[in-house]
Amino acid sequence: MSLFVSLLDKFERYPLTFGPTPIEPLPRLSAALGGKVEIYAKRDDCNSGLAMGGNKLRKLEYIVPDAIACGADTLVSIGGVQSNHTRMVAATAAKIGMKCVVIQEKWVPHYDAVYDRVGNILMTRLMGADSRLIDAGFDIGIRQSWEDAIRSVEAMGGRPYPIPAGASVHKFGGLGYVGFAEEVARQEEELGFRFDYIIVCVVTGSTQAGMIVGFAHQGRAERVIGIDASGTLERTRAQVRRIVDDTAELVGLGRTVREDEIVINPDYAYPAYGVPSEETNEAIRLAARTEAMITDPVYEGKSMQGLIDLTRKGFFPDGSKVLYAHLGGVPAINGYSYYYKDG
Ligand SMILES: *Cc1c(COP(=O)(O)O)cnc(C)c1O
Repeated sequence: MSLFVSLLDKFERYPLTFGPTPIEPLPRLSAALGGKVEIYAKRDDCNSGLAMGGNKLRKLEYIVPDAIACGADTLVSIGGVQSNHTRMVAATAAKIGMKCVVIQEKWVPHYDAVYDRVGNILMTRLMGADSRLIDAGFDIGIRQSWEDAIRSVEAMGGRPYPIPAGASVHKFGGLGYVGFAEEVARQEEELGFRFDYIIVCVVTGSTQAGMIVGFAHQGRAERVIGIDASGTLERTRAQVRRIVDDTAELVGLGRTVREDEIVINPDYAYPAYGVPSEETNEAIRLAARTEAMITDPVYEGKSMQGLIDLTRKGFFPDGSKVLYAHLGGVPAINGYSYYYKDG
């Protein structure tokens, strides 16, 4: 995009990722779904060498400069027991030489025996974060336990830098995925074609919100299909709306994003956040068996289920090129071993 003006030039970015992520064709998955739609994946799950990477690092790249400028010495954040986000905050803290406190709440009604010992939380502890398990249910908003953690760092003489759940309702939380939209546009120039749809999982909102702002700049935000995995559609949609508005203002998009440019499909979040349905597990198996692409039961398995079901239903016109944003999250699968004991 030689004439393309970046919305991000005025923002500082602290590199935590390898750079642009690969776009990979998925021909065997496309064929298994009837061969009328060409499916590709953008591999943000392979975006970094920091503790297995994932989407939160793209967001954190625009948040770290502010944490450093504030003179903070401790990153404080929150998520579920198997949170990818708290793993990524712990990794960032280790990499930039800060301390880390993460609150891990019981967001998921799931009781695998080693749920709080493997995968994300194992790596979080290994990287030296102070991981505190708290008995509270799923909520994408601001939590008392998180505010208590911030105060506890202050009480010890530390300088906390608060990062909300999913790094979403942070002033700079939407910027990373504005960058994703610009990166896709540059890659499309090299590929010589444009994608007709982008499929992305949505929970705390700033991944899709950032994409919407970035793709709105290219006049195609409504082609970003959010697949809800929160099971709390109204709250997630309201949070995406707010982050879209704040991010559009921040980057100077120059117009208000319309309601019809925010597309979120609620059909695949059942039975609950963090719990896969039988159809989710079938989607995980199909992507694994056709492309060796592993997805998790909390997030990407549900957006994969959405991609598969929408393709089978004929939602995408014949000949469409569909880009599946793989946002990471595979470590959590270790906390769900019973589902997959027979494959
Ligand atoms: C956090 C996360 C999501 C959801 O992104 P949000 O910005 O919270 O909406 C999707 N997939 C994975 C693997 C994640 O870690």
